[in-house]
Amino acid sequence: MKTPDGPVKKRRTTSKSAEKPKKPSRNEVEDAVRTLIRWVGEDPARDGLHETPARVTRAFEEYFSGYKEDPAALLEKTFEEIEGYDEMIVLRGIRFESHCEHHMAPIIGRAWVAYLPRGRVVGISKLARVVNAFAKRMQIQEKMTAQIANTINDVLDPYGVAVVLKAEHHCMTTRGVMKPGTDLVTSRMHGVFRDNALTRQEFLSMVNDH
Ligand SMILES: [Zn+2]
Repeated sequence: MKTPDGPVKKRRTTSKSAEKPKKPSRNEVEDAVRTLIRWVGEDPARDGLHETPARVTRAFEEYFSGYKEDPAALLEKTFEEIEGYDEMIVLRGIRFESHCEHHMAPIIGRAWVAYLPRGRVVGISKLARVVNAFAKRMQIQEKMTAQIANTINDVLDPYGVAVVLKAEHHCMTTRGVMKPGTDLVTSRMHGVFRDNALTRQEFLSMVNDH
């Protein structure tokens, strides 16, 4: 839309400060870690802590590497020579490490992922990689559960998808209300797993047996 003050507005919205903030440099991140070290009452210059900011930065790269992954792309290669296989496929107890988006505290858990194929299957390691791609982000467990199930459902178009996550949240086991030993269980079902109580039950018994 062109208005007399259009160009002014445009200049404002495309100025550096209004654009998507640029990614901080590695030095800036290491400085931020140094600030945290000083803030807890330590001296970032002492021998034992000298290399900590660089190490923490590398650790963060690993913790949040999921942003570089495209989970849908992981499922693109499928196999159709399955001799009419039409029973559920269940990958059980996939260990994952994530971080809660409220405290950036670890969420450590396991995922159970099942689907009922419609004429094609995906390499089983790919299911674990989808879990990883979503886990290595700032997360809440409910959202992560839905993201895994929705992605498999959208890309593979199976008869159904079921995902259960059980995880311990360090923001409540090692701080806050301090309740070690508790875990959070979330699930998301699509298709036959949602509509058919027997199919759902078959899957859930495989979760509980594990
Ligand atoms: Zn938290």
